[in-house]
Amino acid sequence: MQMDVSDTIVPYYWQSVNWQQLMDDYPPEPLYRQKNGRLGDEEIRALQNSRFLARVAEGWNVPFYVNRWRAVGLEPGDIRSLDDITKIPSFTSDDLKDAIAEHPPFGSHQPMTKEDFARTPWKIHTSGGTTGFPRMTLFDPRALEVQGIQAARAMWAQGSRPGDTVQITYTMGLTNAAYCATYACHHWLGAIPLNTGSGLITPSEKQLEYALKVGTRAWFGRGEYFARLADVAQEIGFDLRSLKTGRLHAFLGTDTNNVLRKALEDAWGCPVYDNYGTHEVGHIAYECEAQDGRHVAEDTAYVEVQDVETGKPLGFGETGNMVITSLYRTAPLMIRYDLRDLMKIYPRQQCSCGLCSTKLSSFLGRSDEMVKLRGTNVYPMACQPAVREDPRLTGEFICVAFTEGEGLSARTEMAVRVERRSPEIDKAAIVADLQARLHKDLSVKVKVEVFEKEELAPLIQIGSTGKTRRLLDLRTMK
Ligand SMILES: [Zn+2]
Repeated sequence: MQMDVSDTIVPYYWQSVNWQQLMDDYPPEPLYRQKNGRLGDEEIRALQNSRFLARVAEGWNVPFYVNRWRAVGLEPGDIRSLDDITKIPSFTSDDLKDAIAEHPPFGSHQPMTKEDFARTPWKIHTSGGTTGFPRMTLFDPRALEVQGIQAARAMWAQGSRPGDTVQITYTMGLTNAAYCATYACHHWLGAIPLNTGSGLITPSEKQLEYALKVGTRAWFGRGEYFARLADVAQEIGFDLRSLKTGRLHAFLGTDTNNVLRKALEDAWGCPVYDNYGTHEVGHIAYECEAQDGRHVAEDTAYVEVQDVETGKPLGFGETGNMVITSLYRTAPLMIRYDLRDLMKIYPRQQCSCGLCSTKLSSFLGRSDEMVKLRGTNVYPMACQPAVREDPRLTGEFICVAFTEGEGLSARTEMAVRVERRSPEIDKAAIVADLQARLHKDLSVKVKVEVFEKEELAPLIQIGSTGKTRRLLDLRTMK
């Protein structure tokens, strides 16, 4: 029997976005620096305010938000402007996990139904997944394209232009970093994406060969992978500077003292720019050529920092948890999402690059990776300077928290696992030197364990996005 398909409506992607409206609302470069990227304080506040209130109004139709907001006594109409935003409770990825457990597989914060699925072309991307099954997030065409615009603005501010080849070393899989970069180049910059993926997809030696043959102008990926490429180039006698790379669009992570950036700039012979983002809200902050803080894409996100313990709002320059309200995401909404990423916010300022915006510090670590050792709070990232500055080590590390002793004498201990560059290097000397240095840096004693090159990679890398884990907590693992 032949089925009648003449009534089927296909949600064609090209018809699913009002493209002119999208460009007006979230202008890509070079429009951005003529419009939203140069607004004064009051103008940007007004724009953010109207988008914020629209998202809050939508939140009153979403069970996840209605339940949380009513629990603190909020009623529709109580939130009148951005000035009231701290009355809204923030949520963390743990709350999203609960929402997913209650309403699998997507959660009560994503109330889309099977009928909705046929009306719009959706995509599913996942979080990196630190523990357990990765969180799945739905993306509608507008969310995908705004994330592409965000990344394209970053690449533009860092010097990439139409016709440049950008080699993308994130893998196209379940996570969305590679797609953001690809849409950025392909849809919003006129640059050519070269999707080589990570070293698992295209071995590092081949990555360098492609770059040489194609004439890669810029790379987009994880800072630590660019360091790995520099190591491989040295091992095989490949002159990295012969590539004449224009720039690295990098995610440097917690490179607070610029050790990684300097090493990369030296090896590659080009500027290295840092970026910050997360899969739900996109590429929200990026350095420009001034390399003086990360510009916030303020027409797409409202950023706050709150105290790790109390949740109280913090002022400019104070370190706390980054809380983001996405101004463009509607399905799902992201209203006061506490990422537990430790950062600082700096006031709006006119930058020498022409943009005017709030800026962010570098990523300072994860607040949920803190370990209490004999009464002292220890963040694994505080071990990084000691590890990165030691030339005998690869720079990779992971902290392992475990329990020593039993019953009343049980106490938490921490071992810092590092990798030596070659088996000839004296293990005992590394242990002695590093234990002394870490004691000084952390104000508490930790153990040091030495591994061989790349032995730690399976523990450190999360998924394929290149996000890194720095704490393995054996106390909470069964
Ligand atoms: Zn700037």
